[in-house]
Amino acid sequence: MTRRRLVAGNWKMNGSLAGADALVGAVVAGAKGLSAEVAVCPPFVYLPRVRELLRGSPVALGAQNVSREDPGAFTGEIAAPMLRELDCKYVIVGHSERRALYAEGDAMVADKFARVLREGLVPILCVGESLEERDAGRTEAVVARQLDAVVERVGVSELGKGVVAYEPVWAIGTGRTATPEQAQQVHAFIRGRVASRGAEVAAGLRILYGGSVKGSNAGGLFAMADIDGGLIGGASLVADEFLAICRAAG
Ligand code: PEP
Repeated sequence: MTRRRLVAGNWKMNGSLAGADALVGAVVAGAKGLSAEVAVCPPFVYLPRVRELLRGSPVALGAQNVSREDPGAFTGEIAAPMLRELDCKYVIVGHSERRALYAEGDAMVADKFARVLREGLVPILCVGESLEERDAGRTEAVVARQLDAVVERVGVSELGKGVVAYEPVWAIGTGRTATPEQAQQVHAFIRGRVASRGAEVAAGLRILYGGSVKGSNAGGLFAMADIDGGLIGGASLVADEFLAICRAAG
């Protein structure tokens, strides 16, 4: 089964209105004609502006987080229907920064994944181990736990409507990338685990790699059999760098 590659930029809590204009303008121009799908995930407050800038372009819009609740009395939160209204296609759930800094556990992440799907949007589920967990030989156990929480919540065919991003915590924002072989090993494990519940879903599931991806290392990562693109943090803030990664994806 062919899986269309996806490169999604996670701006995190960075940028400005003027900066968004310049960055998105360059990405829209540079992403023309690529076979890979490209998406940008700006901070919530910039979504309306970026949506305007993306009008008529194949570059997709995504959000970095969402509430698991329906609209209501949840001060400071953003509900899934609001993201749909702004034409978001993707929503990142379970990013390691949210798991670590905002105490989002597996159950909450699974609820968010389900809520995003119910809205007809595509969740990008982030999974990945810390350095301590890797050193203790627990990479597969941690990734399996994070993945299984979602499969148990929504079922394997619903998981297949989303995207998985393997992001080893020790590689995020550190400049230390997993080698293509290290990443492939975990991607193959993820695909195998999903295949044990549904072979067809596993064959079609896009599994992105994230963690200090740059123009210079993207080609090696994307050449691996089970790596279907990237979730890009720091490098997504620099148009030339982000576009180099997009081109490496096809
Ligand atoms: C991320 O935060 O999703 C990420 C992969 O960050 P970076 O590319 O900066 O490591």
